[in-house]
Order: sequence, then C-alpha cells, then structure tokens
Amino acid sequence: MKDVARVIVTYDCPRNCPNCCNEHIGDVPAVKFEDLLKYKELVITGGEPMEIAPRVVEMIHRLRESGYKGKLWLYTSCLKTARWADRAVLQEVNGITYTLHHKPSQKDLSDVRKLNNFLMEKLDNRAHDRSDRLLIDSRCYTEEVLRIIGLYDTGTKHWSSIKPLEWKDDVCPIPDNEELIYYDLERE
Ligand code: SF4
Repeated sequence: MKDVARVIVTYDCPRNCPNCCNEHIGDVPAVKFEDLLKYKELVITGGEPMEIAPRVVEMIHRLRESGYKGKLWLYTSCLKTARWADRAVLQEVNGITYTLHHKPSQKDLSDVRKLNNFLMEKLDNRAHDRSDRLLIDSRCYTEEVLRIIGLYDTGTKHWSSIKPLEWKDDVCPIPDNEELIYYDLERE
C-alpha cells in the first residue's frame, strides 16, 4: 500500500471536458471508510468534489473524529467561496490544487477571482502550513486572464505556486507515491 491515496469521491463533474481523465483510468478499486484511515495523506478528487461539498465536509469531520491525523488535500476546478460548504472544505484541508480549464466563462473567471481574494484575506498560508496551487490551462494562461482573476492586483504570495498546465489527451498521470481509489461519498 502506498502512503498517499488519491480518492475519487464522485465521478460527476459539470465541466464535461473532452477526453476527461476519468475516461481513461480504467477500473479503480472501491474502498470503505475504514480503508481511508490507513493512508498518511488523502487527496480528495473527482469528478468534481465540490459538487457534493457538504458531503466532503462530513467526510473530513468523520475522518478527524475517527482519529485521522494525516494531511488532506483537495483537487477541484469548481469551488465557489459564496457557498458555506466550499469555504468549510477550504479551511479544513491543508491545501488545494485548483485548475482553471480551457475556454473559461466569465463566471469561471469570477469564481477564481473570489477564491484568490478569499485565500489572501481569510487564510494565512504560512500560519496554517498550507500549500495552495493554481493551475491554469496553458491555452488560456494569458496576461488578460491573470488580470481578470486579480493576480496583478493582489500579488501571488498567498499561492504556493501558479503554473500553466499542458493539457494532454489520453494521459492522466498519477505520482508514483499515490494510489488511486474510489470512495463512493454519494452513497456512504
Ligand atoms: S474538470 Fe476534470 S473531472 Fe471534470 S470533466 Fe474536466 S477533466 Fe474530467
């Protein structure tokens, strides 16, 4: 067993990207809640976990109440700071990896701008030992997009890293130290 589990909590996602990673990953072993406790770190992913953000909050609380002391990370591309559950998840995890996808709508850009402001104003990444990463599809990694999402106004220190992401069809790389598992949070 590896130290880190990348946990798919739902396959649902509103983005419907062409060649979504989940179309190519094959069978992913399903696990029970108790299995999650065996890993040193958990990376919560999907699909889009924030589609069921209140369930993710419950999952995190259940993990902590069960004595889980490992780090928790979130992969998302649809986090809205206006929703209580999304804010709660943001504050509970050790960090997020947020991906801004190709051809973002004005609403997508507005969501990232609000997230950028929230991290800067509400979460002190150094005090909480956070690591928040922003990935921007290289096809829309432009000065105009960076300006719209507020990075020119606010600076970037509250992000651990901001990088362009090369979109690769048919490839869904999982780091060597991570195990991909499925925990059906919608049914648990
Ligand atoms: S955002 Fe991710 S999970 Fe959702 S459709 Fe796109 S590649 Fe798939």
